[in-house]
Amino acid sequence: MTTTTNILERFRLDERVALVTGGASGIGRGFAHALGEAGAKVAIVDIDTEAAEVVAQELSDKDIESMVLTIDVTRPEQTRQMVEAVVDRWGTLTIGVNNAGIASWFDAETMPEEEWRKVLALNLDGVFYCAQAEARFMLEAGYGKIINTASMSAHIVNHPQHQAAYNASKAGVLHLTRTLAAEWATRGVRVNSISPGYTRTALVERFIQEPEGAEKYPTWMERTPMGRMAEVDDLVGAVVYLASEASDFTTGHDIVVDGGYTAW
Ligand code: NAD
Repeated sequence: MTTTTNILERFRLDERVALVTGGASGIGRGFAHALGEAGAKVAIVDIDTEAAEVVAQELSDKDIESMVLTIDVTRPEQTRQMVEAVVDRWGTLTIGVNNAGIASWFDAETMPEEEWRKVLALNLDGVFYCAQAEARFMLEAGYGKIINTASMSAHIVNHPQHQAAYNASKAGVLHLTRTLAAEWATRGVRVNSISPGYTRTALVERFIQEPEGAEKYPTWMERTPMGRMAEVDDLVGAVVYLASEASDFTTGHDIVVDGGYTAW
């Protein structure tokens, strides 16, 4: 990649090709819009094809080129097909945003084994399979940006809800990010993560609409120095930075966007 001198130009993503897993909703949808607005073509990767088509239409309305891929990221062979489909259509893959994830609340001592497996399978295994498939192409090409969605839960233990599987999976994403970054550092592939705090999306709305969640919500706000949840728009600057040439010397790093939560 050539380096231009103009700083705003270095944030532009023209001629870049991105994929965003979990792109049909919430944070992934916001990332897809932001990457597209910065100039990239964007593949919306999700198990929810209908919702992904809606996001693709939103991008198309902004003259952003996009495609929809129905992929379950917990299936390694499907993550390989995901990369093949993007490269077949657009000739390359420069940005892989591995964002699909789920959360659940269980007391650790009674958590069913299948619940632990479900969360780890999507939040950690899925991120690894996607990163591996993306890197196989990017390492060959000699350039690429992998961005994983971790969470502030990788850094702190959320309170008052109990979510051992989620916290462990996100701590895994954080250290996997560092590990892959170190392994691929000399070969042009940067691997970083973004750790959102509580963010207003379907994932969180589902919890706070239940009485158990509504009761916990005030504690979350008391513990957030800025006193509010993040909106998806609060997060998207980080993904454009990490996807762009402006961050080419940054790898193995995590950008925490949490209104100060982890600072307290
Ligand atoms: P969301 O529920 O709005 O979106 C998740 C998307 O992932 C959905 O479109 C869903 O269909 C898709 N998905 C689920 N399983 C999949 C699979 N097997 N393969 C492909 N796609 C699949 O959630 P969100 O709040 O936007 O969360 C996105 C990411 O951000 C997650 O990794 C989450 O852990 C993380 N995060 C969210 C918050 C928050 O407060 N919302 C905070 C920190 C981190």
